[in-house]
Amino acid sequence: MDSSAPTAEEHTGLHQDSVAVASGRPDREPGSAVNPPVVLSSTYFGQGQVTAGDRSYGRYSNPTWDPFETALAELEGASEPALAYASGMAAAASALSLVPPGGTVVMPNHSYGGTVGLAQRLADDGAFSLRLVNIADTAEVKAQLAGGGQPAGGEQLAGGGQPADLLWVESPTNPMLEVADVSAIAAAAHDAGALVVADNTFSTPLVQQPLGLGADVVIHSVTKYLAGHSDVVLGAAVTSDPQLRERLLTHRSMHGSIAGPFETWMALRGLRTLALRVERSQANAAELASRLQRHPAVAAVRFPGLPDDPGHERAKRQMSGFGSIIGVEMAGGAAAADALVGRLKLWLPATSLGGVESLIERRRRHTNEPETVPEPLVRMSVGIEHVEDLWADLDQGMR
Ligand SMILES: *Cc1c(COP(=O)(O)O)cnc(C)c1O
Repeated sequence: MDSSAPTAEEHTGLHQDSVAVASGRPDREPGSAVNPPVVLSSTYFGQGQVTAGDRSYGRYSNPTWDPFETALAELEGASEPALAYASGMAAAASALSLVPPGGTVVMPNHSYGGTVGLAQRLADDGAFSLRLVNIADTAEVKAQLAGGGQPAGGEQLAGGGQPADLLWVESPTNPMLEVADVSAIAAAAHDAGALVVADNTFSTPLVQQPLGLGADVVIHSVTKYLAGHSDVVLGAAVTSDPQLRERLLTHRSMHGSIAGPFETWMALRGLRTLALRVERSQANAAELASRLQRHPAVAAVRFPGLPDDPGHERAKRQMSGFGSIIGVEMAGGAAAADALVGRLKLWLPATSLGGVESLIERRRRHTNEPETVPEPLVRMSVGIEHVEDLWADLDQGMR
C-alpha cells in the first residue's frame, strides 16, 4: 500500500457519506493535486532483490489501485485494503478459489446468474460440490451447511454428508429480493468450519456491512452502484483477515484478473457521489414500490422496503435502507411484461443495475435464468431521475 494513503484512523467518527468523499486523497502538499492520478505504467524502476508485494511490475500492483482500495475498505469497515479486480466475476472467481479441492459450497439458488453459472461449472468439473439453497430459509441453510442430513427430496446431498467449506451469501437476492438472516447463517457456517463470502453489490456498504454481520470476505461488482454510471466494468474483494487477503491477492496476481488503472480511477470518482446516489435511488424505489403495489396491472411487488414483504423485518434489522432494486410481477403475464418494457421512454430497456439511469428488463429473457423466477417478473434498477417522471413513464407503459 502507498505509504501516503490516508489511514482509517484519520476518518474515525466521520459518517460514511464523508468517508466516501474524503478517503483515498493524496497528501496535502501545497500545489499538488487533490485527486490521485491515473498511473499508466506496466513496470517500475528497480534493481536487485524483489519480494512479493514490492512495486515491480504492473500485474502485482499499480498506484492507481491504492486510493480506491483504501476507500472501499474503510466503507466496508475492513482493517485491510480492498483488492480491485477486472470485474465482479473476477472477484467472485478469486473468492471461490478459497474452497479447498473436493470441498463443498452452499450458495443461494437465486445468486447472480454469473456466479451460479461459474460455481456450477466448477462443480461439474469436480473442483467442489455445490448445494443450492433458498438463502432466506435459515433452517435449510443450516442443514445444508452441517451436511449429514437427507434433503427433503430424498436425493443424495451434494458432497455426501460432509460439512460445507464455504457459504456464499447474497441478500437481497437477484432478482427475487429474498432477504437472508446474515448473522444467523454466518454463525452457522463458522460452526461448520466454513468461510463466509458475501456479495454486497445490491446494497453497497452504505446500506449493509456484511463483515460486521459475520462475513469473512465481501465481494462487489463495482460495475454497479460503486462506480455508478454504467460506464465501467470492475470488481473488488474486501476482508479484514490478512491471510485471506494474501490468498486472494496471490490469486489475482497469478490469474492476472487485475483492474485497469483507468477503470479504477473512474470507480473512485463514482464513489465520491455514492451517498447521494444511494439516498435518491432508495427514496425513488420506496415510493415506486408502494405505488406499483396498488396498480391494477401488477400482480406482486418484491421489495424489502414494503411492510408486508417477507424480508422486511430482517432487512430492517441488518440494513440501513432497502436498496433500489424492485421485482415486479405483471398481472398480464410475460407478454404484459414485454409490452411494458417496450413502451417505456425514460426507463432504459437493458440489463445491469446500479447506475444513475433507471433500467428495466424481464428477467426470464435470459435463457439461463432459473425457472423459479416467474416469467412475468421484471427487475427494475431505480436510478436518480425525478420520481414523478419515472412513475409517469411506468403508468403510461402499463395502460
Ligand atoms: C453484476 C453482478 C456481478 C458480476 O459483476 P461483473 O462486474 O459484471 O463481472 C456479481 N454479483 C452481482 C450481484 C451483480 O449484480
